[in-house]
Amino acid sequence: MKCRRYGGGEMDVDFYAGRDDELGLLGDALNDMKRDIDESRKQIEKLAYLDALTELPNRRFFDEQVKKLLSWAEANDSSIALLFIDLDHFKEVNDVAGHRLGDKLLQRVASRLQHIILNVAPNIPLPVSPEHLLARFGGDEFVMLLPGLDNIEQIAGVARRVERLLDDTYLIESHRFKISASIGVALYPDDGTTFTEMLKNADIAMYAAKHSGRNRFRFFEHSMNTSLVDQVEMIQGVRDALHRQHFELYYQPIYDLKDNSLVGAEALLRWKRPKKGIITPGSFMPLVETSELVVPVSLWVLDRACQDLKRLFLPCKPDFKLSVNISGSIMNDHEVCDEISTMIERAGIPRNRLHIEITETSMMENIQQCSTVLGRWKEAGADIWVDDFGTGYSSLSYLHTLPIDGLKVDQSFVHDIKSDAAHKLVEAILAMSQSLGLETVAEGIENKEQRDILDGLGASYGQGYLFSKPTPVTELVKKLESQLARKVQKKRSLNQSVQAKLIKAHQRQKAAEIKGAA
Ligand code: C2E
Ligand code: MG
Ligand code: MG
Repeated sequence: MKCRRYGGGEMDVDFYAGRDDELGLLGDALNDMKRDIDESRKQIEKLAYLDALTELPNRRFFDEQVKKLLSWAEANDSSIALLFIDLDHFKEVNDVAGHRLGDKLLQRVASRLQHIILNVAPNIPLPVSPEHLLARFGGDEFVMLLPGLDNIEQIAGVARRVERLLDDTYLIESHRFKISASIGVALYPDDGTTFTEMLKNADIAMYAAKHSGRNRFRFFEHSMNTSLVDQVEMIQGVRDALHRQHFELYYQPIYDLKDNSLVGAEALLRWKRPKKGIITPGSFMPLVETSELVVPVSLWVLDRACQDLKRLFLPCKPDFKLSVNISGSIMNDHEVCDEISTMIERAGIPRNRLHIEITETSMMENIQQCSTVLGRWKEAGADIWVDDFGTGYSSLSYLHTLPIDGLKVDQSFVHDIKSDAAHKLVEAILAMSQSLGLETVAEGIENKEQRDILDGLGASYGQGYLFSKPTPVTELVKKLESQLARKVQKKRSLNQSVQAKLIKAHQRQKAAEIKGAA
């Protein structure tokens, strides 16, 4: 009877007979057999449903879970976020340390991710268990599902948490490996209503995250969905734009927050595409940075910026500072780095006038190499600034080791400055930069409230739409000329009032003398 129940699928049947005759022995033997069968069954289930290396759900099992979740989301009018997580530099670990250690590293990553998913799974009834919301998709790719988080901030919070938790140095069998992760996020139903569509779009967003400097997350945007054909056309377009001089530099002024005076500007690249209007670098620079075109584009920008600084800005304002963005992706090219040093030297610009901006994330990619290159550019006459500071989640200790002069506080913190978290972070960044003797520019200031808070916290300079959008060179020259005219006028009226005072004093003295003589 018990055998029949067990055969029918009742797993917790106990064959113990409670007697020491032959039937008792048979019961014990059946119990031993049942244990073996249970063990084998578990093993088979594991092989069928789980990834052998990490014991996370395998692709097939995960597909089933996603189907259940999508039906649940549709019925409950709920959302799902899909995080596509790809490890940065994992290939190098495998190449250098071998697959055995690489596998161990993947197991560590899997358990860290599992820890997160078990902590963030919402407290609502779901059709799948939380540990099945995470899977490895072969190699160094992981997929995480976040059902029921409707608030975009919450989703960004989890993505940031994943990014921070994975960005670490891992110690495995006395070897140290530094890795990080790039994450793409797609949302159901906005970015796709099927798993295939969501996965594809999260993958595209992940590539965008990699292109914009790795170790970060990006939400999918429909504009990212450019096909390979579009990309090839874009690259050809950029090459053509260089020849036909369709590139132009716009300048966004930077102001002293203490007295609102214009102290400098940042050069920002614009592509004036015939019939298509002005294109901002966000839509072509990430692609350019993955191609060899990054070299001529960077050299063109630096050359034009140096010329404008020397010919147009410094004559109006001899202490004017001009910031130029340089892509971190050229940092490994010795020849180009040398060419940049030579260009800076040849430009013959007084010291501290030309600022080179490198994003924090690209500095972190190769601190050693970066330190050498930046040191050479500094020797050649440029100041070095860290752009988008605060987004790289980098260890602060590197700031001592790099030859840097200032930090640009990333605009995301300025945008959120009224939130407690951003306020505290900016406060800490400013205190730290002050103690290191670095200057600071707060980027993306859009209203007076943000300006006043940042001024109160001790930021030295500000840049953003509140003061001015990026403008063509002629506009900046006009601004500088009118600032110069105001200064001359002020000086003149100051001279006039000094002169008037002197005349008055002279007249008084004369009158006193006449009075004395009389
Ligand atoms: P970035 O260096 O952080 O430049 C600041 C970006 O923020 C600029 O976008 C600017 O127009 C924008 N911005 C300034 N104030 C505000 C504000 O108040 N609110 C908002 N929402 N945005 C503001 P842009 O010109 O589209 O450039 C985007 C990024 O492209 C730059 O970020 C920089 O990383 C890159 N880039 C621009 N020009 C060059 C270049 O010549 N070479 C390289 N390698 N990268 C460049
Ligand atoms: Mg910049
Ligand atoms: Mg910036």
